[in-house]
Amino acid sequence: MLKTGKEYLESIHDGRVIYVGGERIDDITRHVGFCRGLRTYAALFDMKADPALRDIMSYEEDGERYSMYYLQPRSQEDLRRRSAAHRKITEFGMGIMGRTPDAVGGNITGLTMNLDYFRNKPGSHPENVLNIYEHMRKNDIFATYAIVPPQGARDRNYYQSKGLQQPALRVTKETDAGVILNGMKMLATGAVYAHEVLIGNIMPLAPDHTKEAITCMIPLGLPGLQLWARPPFNRDDISEFDAPLTYRFDESDCMLIFKDVFVPWEKVIVHDNADLSRNIYINTPAHIIANHQCNVRFATKLRFLLSVASLITRMTGARDIPAVRDTLGRLAAMEAGYAAMVDGQIEAYETTASGYAVFNRRYVYAAIHWAMENHSGIIDTLRELMGGGHFQFPANASVFDDPELAEVFDTYWTTSEFTAKDRMKLFKLAWDLVGSDLASRATSYEKFFVGPAFAVRNYNFINTPWDEIHNITESFMAQYDIEQNAPVTN
Ligand SMILES: Cc1cc2nc3c(=O)[nH]c(=O)nc-3n(C[C@H](O)[C@H](O)[C@H](O)COP(=O)(O)OP(=O)(O)OC[C@H]3O[C@@H](n4cnc5c(N)ncnc54)[C@H](O)[C@@H]3O)c2cc1C
Repeated sequence: MLKTGKEYLESIHDGRVIYVGGERIDDITRHVGFCRGLRTYAALFDMKADPALRDIMSYEEDGERYSMYYLQPRSQEDLRRRSAAHRKITEFGMGIMGRTPDAVGGNITGLTMNLDYFRNKPGSHPENVLNIYEHMRKNDIFATYAIVPPQGARDRNYYQSKGLQQPALRVTKETDAGVILNGMKMLATGAVYAHEVLIGNIMPLAPDHTKEAITCMIPLGLPGLQLWARPPFNRDDISEFDAPLTYRFDESDCMLIFKDVFVPWEKVIVHDNADLSRNIYINTPAHIIANHQCNVRFATKLRFLLSVASLITRMTGARDIPAVRDTLGRLAAMEAGYAAMVDGQIEAYETTASGYAVFNRRYVYAAIHWAMENHSGIIDTLRELMGGGHFQFPANASVFDDPELAEVFDTYWTTSEFTAKDRMKLFKLAWDLVGSDLASRATSYEKFFVGPAFAVRNYNFINTPWDEIHNITESFMAQYDIEQNAPVTN
């Protein structure tokens, strides 16, 4: 069943405990830091349920309709359908929002595509994976994930020497009914707005860290669970005109704090198995299916960046200067190249032993790496194209409230081609991409959301067919040798 926006709004009133610093947020519908983001997610659910978009956003199975990102792809055409739905969703968020429901929906779908990998391994619960997937698609669940330990957890000796509880999330007790969890997990983007969160470990654990291997899918309103949010970027004095991306797309990020949180066995995917806890992402299509969504999102963002960059140069009057055209040409080449990388993941798709179709693994990781390495530079290019333009405009849209000021503004800021208001509107939007709190957070997000750069390079390394690559050179070198040098004859 597909939820409407209204049903989505009703479904997240589950008593979740949210803190911003020392402030307890009782109702996100009434808090300026969260209510605008909430409206955006509700509008996204409405778009998903719109009958006019039915064939793009959902699929039918046994008479029921499900969100497209729960489709288990069995053909190249299925991959195209998944990708088209991601594109529609990411365009809704202009590529700015990372944690739309199609992201982790992809992870869970990917886990179900190799249940054999789970079978006969200690601490593994393949039947729960399938039940969790069924529950999610039937109830149109929006999940996020928290699959990284906090940085402070590296200093184990300190906690041990003081007899303190380790900050890394762990199972502290098992009962017949389930597990009790204590500790922290970072850093769940969208947790304030999601229904559920996948808890797990994307980075390898030491083999003896078995209690930290807990992997489960839990509702965000579970008793004992707290969401500690970073400062929301929306404030009362921020208007949509002044910061349209912040206004709509601040998706929030939360540390998750567990104090004796009870999780029933039905929600546990892995426990007591450090290897399995990490490898479920790598040895099933989960990571690839989910990261294709990330790549589609980045492609959407790049198109948007290119569009803003070009319009900015039109407004500064510099667009036809050869050096500026050269810069736009470079950006356009990057945008087109990235789009090709995303399409290539479908064109060169792979199949699994169980008959599923999966995006090309190497191309997915290459695109993730490319985005991670190039995002900051692209943002800096846009900043450069803007010159000091942004700082020439009034502080905010309240200038229009005073007729006298509005007239001065209109007189001095209007150019032959553009009104003062239109110029201000575009520069405020561009600043929300390069200079606002939201923009700065996005720069960290693009560097880290998949994990640190060395981990992403490792995914690229381990998936490269090195024998094949070596053979290119070795077979060429086998064509000649020192004894075969023939004298040059005329
Ligand atoms: C905005 C934002 C949103 C996020 N959203 C989510 C989310 O929704 N879910 C989730 O689970 N996680 C999320 N993350 C967390 C993200 O997964 C981590 O930030 C990422 O894995 C890096 O881990 P870390 O922050 O602990 O940095 P660290 O691992 O401490 O790395 C810090 C720096 O040290 C370097 N470094 C550390 N160890 C090594 C090493 N062995 N070799 C070489 N260099 C090293 C890193 O490359 C990096 O430059 C988010 C992060 C950000 C910034």
